[in-house]
Amino acid sequence: MDHVISGVARFQQDIFPNKKDRFKKLATGQNPEVLFITCADSRIDPNLVTQTEPGDLFICRNAGNIVPPHSNQTGSMTASIEFAVAALGVSHIVICGHTDCGAIKGAINPENLDSLPHVKEWLGHCRSATETVRERHGHLDKDNLAEVTCENVLQQLQHLRTHPAVAAGLANKRITLHGWVYDIGTGQVLCYNEKTEGFEPMDEQYKALFADVQSVKEA
Ligand code: ZN
Repeated sequence: MDHVISGVARFQQDIFPNKKDRFKKLATGQNPEVLFITCADSRIDPNLVTQTEPGDLFICRNAGNIVPPHSNQTGSMTASIEFAVAALGVSHIVICGHTDCGAIKGAINPENLDSLPHVKEWLGHCRSATETVRERHGHLDKDNLAEVTCENVLQQLQHLRTHPAVAAGLANKRITLHGWVYDIGTGQVLCYNEKTEGFEPMDEQYKALFADVQSVKEA
C-alpha cells in the first residue's frame, strides 16, 4: 500500500501542476464522449490503453464486463448506463473484454464457484455466451476461453440494447456500440466487425471505417 500512498503525493506534486488547466475545467463538469465498460481486472487501465485523459471516458467496471439485461430492478450498471446515456449524452459505448479473464473462467466452470455465491450468481449473466459456445462445439472447457470471452462481449452488447436509453439512442442513430477484446500479453485490441461477424485487429477495422467515412465525404 505504501507505493499507492506515495503515488498520491507524487501526483499532487509532479503531475497535477502540469495539467492544472484541464483539472480546473473538469472541476465544474464533465462531458465524456464514451461510456467504457470493462472488467474490474487490475491489469486493465482504460485510460492507458486508449491514451485518453481524465474527462474522456465514463468508466463502468465489474467482474466480467457484464451488463445485466434491463429490468425494473435497479442495479449499479443499469443506473450508471442510464446516467451516461440519458444525462451525459455519450455517443459511443465500448464493451471491452480481455484475455485470461477470471470471470469468464468462472463462467465456464461454475461448479468451482460454490464458495463464491455472489460471483456465481453474477456470472449467470454470461450464460448465453457459455451456452452458445457449448452448443457450437458440443462441449465447453478451458480451451474455449478466448471464444467465450469474445462471445461474452457480443452477449453483453445484446443486453445493452435492452436498456431504454440505449435503445432510443440506437434507434435515432445517436449512439454507436463497439465490442472490443484487449490482449493483456501483447497490447493488441481486437474489435468486432459486424460485416465479417468476427473480431479483428482494431487498426484494420477502423482504417476500413475511416475509409468508408472518407468515401462518403468525397461522394
Ligand atoms: Zn476479467
